[in-house]
Amino acid sequence: MIPAEFDYVAPESLDAALAALREGGEDAKVLAGGHSLVPLMKLRLAAPSLLVDLRRVPGLEGIRRENGSVRIGAMTRHHAVATDPSLGLAARAAATIADQQVRNRGTIGGALAHGDPASDLPAVLVALEGSVVVRGEGGEREIAAADLFQDYLTTAVGDGEILTEVRLPAGDGWGAGYAKFNRRVEDWAMVAVCAAVRRAPDGSCEDVRVGLTNMASTPLRGTAVEAALRGGSLDAPAIAAAAEQAAEGTDPPEDLNASADYKRHLARVLCRRALEEAAAAA
Ligand SMILES: Cc1cc2nc3c(=O)[nH]c(=O)nc-3n(C[C@H](O)[C@H](O)[C@H](O)COP(=O)(O)OP(=O)(O)OC[C@H]3O[C@@H](n4cnc5c(N)ncnc54)[C@H](O)[C@@H]3O)c2cc1C
Repeated sequence: MIPAEFDYVAPESLDAALAALREGGEDAKVLAGGHSLVPLMKLRLAAPSLLVDLRRVPGLEGIRRENGSVRIGAMTRHHAVATDPSLGLAARAAATIADQQVRNRGTIGGALAHGDPASDLPAVLVALEGSVVVRGEGGEREIAAADLFQDYLTTAVGDGEILTEVRLPAGDGWGAGYAKFNRRVEDWAMVAVCAAVRRAPDGSCEDVRVGLTNMASTPLRGTAVEAALRGGSLDAPAIAAAAEQAAEGTDPPEDLNASADYKRHLARVLCRRALEEAAAAA
């Protein structure tokens, strides 16, 4: 399919990109890796009048550590996240995104701004209580993960705003686990579960985080599972019992691949596997 006609600019500074977005009005869109937006345009499910390409904007790419947190530039490719072992859970999840070609082009900022509940990184941001930084006409603001994902493909990043940075807590001392189920290895998740676990000195569960992918119109936190494990044992029966609660509070969309009930079953199984991996690594 051929997209509808559109204008294209590739500004060389963030201010110029913001100005172009402003001038383009509500039908102007940011272009990052193009691996979600361009397919939508080809299907004519999106028809922006102007694309503002961020590839030439300096300072939006790279991973650095600051004050106990990790800061990832919005234009950082999935490949860079996936191959940085110090990123723990985020690296683990990014490594499962599609194939190498998509990981070489797709960006962390694009994945989070797009807000697809079947994408791998949104649930990681929610589980780790990360945040994103956006710049707009009114300056810069930080949006907590819990406030970012509002509905299916709808985030709190406003028209005319550019997501510039992703912030995650440094994962030192945490074990990470990720379990994703799809029909073909490069597909989006039918369901995925991410888990991070930190052990107390006696080996029990000091803290735990669980995120659920494609179990509602937004990524979810597995709060019932977390409450069942926190402060208790991390042995196999305790993990299995806690994982039984993984579907609590979820509203999984039915699709051609799976009924809602099957997705709830997947969530419980994948949650157990992700927790086992995280506990073994903690
Ligand atoms: C075949 C295929 C398989 C895939 N499989 C998976 C998968 O298994 N798991 C997964 O998680 N993803 C998957 N993806 C999606 C991929 O990860 C995309 O790269 C990602 O969702 C969007 O990132 P992008 O940089 O390509 O964004 P784009 O497509 O350029 O943009 C997506 C949207 O976000 C907006 N946007 C982008 N960057 C910013 C910014 N900095 N500030 C504000 N708005 C912004 C755009 O305007 C657009 O609306 C797949 C894609 C393809 C083509």
